[in-house]
Order: sequence, then structure tokens, then C-alpha cells
Amino acid sequence: MPRPISLIIKPSAIAYNLSVVKTRLHQAGSKSFVWGVIKANAYGHGIEVALPALQQADGLAMLDFNEALTCRQLGWKKPILMLEGFFQIQDLTLIYDHHLTPVVHNDEQIDLLVNYSRLHFPTRSTTSPVLPAIYLKINTGMNRLGFKPETFRVAYDKLLKLKEQGLLSAVHLMTHFAQADTQLGVQAQLDVFNQITMGLSAERSLANSAATLRYPETYADWVRPGIILYGASPFNNQTAAQLQLKPAMTLRSELIAIQSLHRGDAVGYGGEYIAPQPMRIGVVACGYADGYPRHAPQGTPVSVGGMICPLVGRISMDMLTVDLSNAKQSQVGNSVILWGEGGPSVDEVALYSGTIAYELMCAVSPRVPRQLDSAA
Ligand SMILES: *Cc1c(COP(=O)(O)O)cnc(C)c1O
Repeated sequence: MPRPISLIIKPSAIAYNLSVVKTRLHQAGSKSFVWGVIKANAYGHGIEVALPALQQADGLAMLDFNEALTCRQLGWKKPILMLEGFFQIQDLTLIYDHHLTPVVHNDEQIDLLVNYSRLHFPTRSTTSPVLPAIYLKINTGMNRLGFKPETFRVAYDKLLKLKEQGLLSAVHLMTHFAQADTQLGVQAQLDVFNQITMGLSAERSLANSAATLRYPETYADWVRPGIILYGASPFNNQTAAQLQLKPAMTLRSELIAIQSLHRGDAVGYGGEYIAPQPMRIGVVACGYADGYPRHAPQGTPVSVGGMICPLVGRISMDMLTVDLSNAKQSQVGNSVILWGEGGPSVDEVALYSGTIAYELMCAVSPRVPRQLDSAA
């Protein structure tokens, strides 16, 4: 038997969360399409599991070519957006062969496109009639990827020329918001984007999860939600439950030991927690080698048999310890929810640990066995 820890993934929750996004768009009177973002192995949920749950998405967005090929092998025929574009000339073969839609965000990528077209066209265009579209990325203030407003036009014209030469099917436009989840919002970046793209006939994509929930003025032609598809909140002042989202990932384990402590007994490495009175401590089969954050402090909620029990002592590699005062009847073998359905939300655990749900979901270790919850 394996250790009693598992990561339970619920595809119906992903499908449901996508429907929440679509309802939002619909309510705002938008006909925007949806890129379902499945980078980082679908935020740790597994591409193979997420893909069937996202059949109603209009496209999938990611950045790893292996993940893109996996999607094609799994039968995904709709568009695939490569969020970081391509890195070397060989990648362009994959883009043309598998009909991927890359982002183009720097001059080096345009040079690669030009070189590739010199090598492979026009001969290739006859064998591959379906040309890829690209998204030209504009840096409207995040200062990560993209052309600055002052260099955008030159890049755009170069790409339009490649289109006229029959090497691309379309040149679309995108940007990415740095603060859609904060007080600052999207207005400054949105203004820059709208101003420099005014009058251009191209499809546009701007909104991440936070903008999709808060700023209908960013919907344009395609939105790009990620985190909300998996049932976590992009905001620190609104929970996923308040946003009507359902958790798609549950990290579950069991109590594997119970210790009865005297007042003054210390728990775990460094003896950081000292029992203030006689108490029972539950030992859970889950540690930082499973992806639980080592920095989770005392008091981080853990659900034991449905009761919230606070974490005490340091997180070990393979175990963590909780105060069982709230779960008087608990026994070895009882079910423990670290986060997800029936326990604290992944956002709550992240908040305690000084991180974000994105990181926790992506960091669940491969050694944790995955299980499917096929409930509706
Ligand atoms: C990750 C990513 C998204 C999705 O972000 P969420 O906050 O998870 O919704 C959208 N666009 C780009 C460019 C991204 O890298």
C-alpha cells in the first residue's frame, strides 16, 4: 500500500468554473472567446485531466511545446496559444506542423520567423496550407514580455509583411495586466493598449482571471483565464467561494500517529512548539517533500475528520503535526484535508504561508499519487 496521501482532482469542478467564466462574459453582453490557460501542467492538475474538462473552451494557452503536443495527441483540434512564443528555429517547425499560435514578443523572434521563412517557403506553404496566426505582444506597463508602445508599430508592420508573403494567416494583438488583482487595476495599461492599437483590424486578447472577473471593458475578442478555472481566487480580498468557484484540487492525507503530550513537551525539529497544557498532537502523512509549504506557520488550518485543527511545530519532509484539541474523537487513520473540498481553501493555506494558491497548486510533488473524483 502507498502512504495515505493523495491529490484528488475533480474535472467537473474545472468544467463548472469555465461555465462561470462564460456566464460572466454572456452577462456582460460579450461574445469573447475563451483561452483556457493550462500552463504548468494545468496549474498542477494534469493536462490529461484538465483537457476533457475544458472541451467548451475555444482554445488552450500554455508555453511548453511538450504540453502543446500532448494536447494535440489527446485530440485537441482548436487553437493552442503559446504564451512565450518560440525560443529557437526548430520550434517553428512544431508551430507550423501542429498549427500552434505563438506569441511574438521580441525582435529576435521576428528574425527567427524571417529566417525560417527563407529556409522553408515557398516550397513548404504548398504542403502545409494551414498557416499559423501569431499574437504580437505589447508591453503596456508590466515590463516583462512585449514590444514597448514606441517599437510596436515597426514590429507590427514586419509581421504584416510576413502575412502578405503568405507565411502567417493573421497578426493578432495582446497585452498582459500586472495589477488586475490590486487596487491599481487595469486602466493605465488598457489606455495604452487602446491608444496604440486604435483602428487596427486585429483580434485582441487582454484579460487574465482577475480582469475577467472585475473589468468587462478588457474582454475584447479573447479572454485568458487560468487560476479561476481551477477554483482558486485571484484576489486577496475575495474568496473563491464568494466568486462561486469550486475547488478542483484536494490534497488529502491521514493521521498516522497521535502523541499525548505533557505540559512543556516540545514538538518536532527545533522543538519550536511547546505544549502549554496536556494535549494530543496528530501526525499527518504530508510534508514539504509532498509540496506542502515548509513556511506554513503555527495556526495554519488543517481539517481532521471535518474539524479545523491548527498546525503546530515545523513542517518536516514527510510529516506535519496538528493540535487535536478541536477533534477530541480523532484516531489514527482519520482523514485529513490539507486543502480543497471539505477543508481549508488553497487560498487560505497560501495566505498563511505568505504565498499564492498558484504556487501551492503547481508545487504538489510528483510523488503524491493522483486520483480522479468523477462526481458531478
Ligand atoms: C498565466 C497567464 C494567464 C492566466 O493568468 P491567471 O491569473 O491564472 O488567470 C493569462 N495570460 C498570460 C500571458 C499568462 O502568462
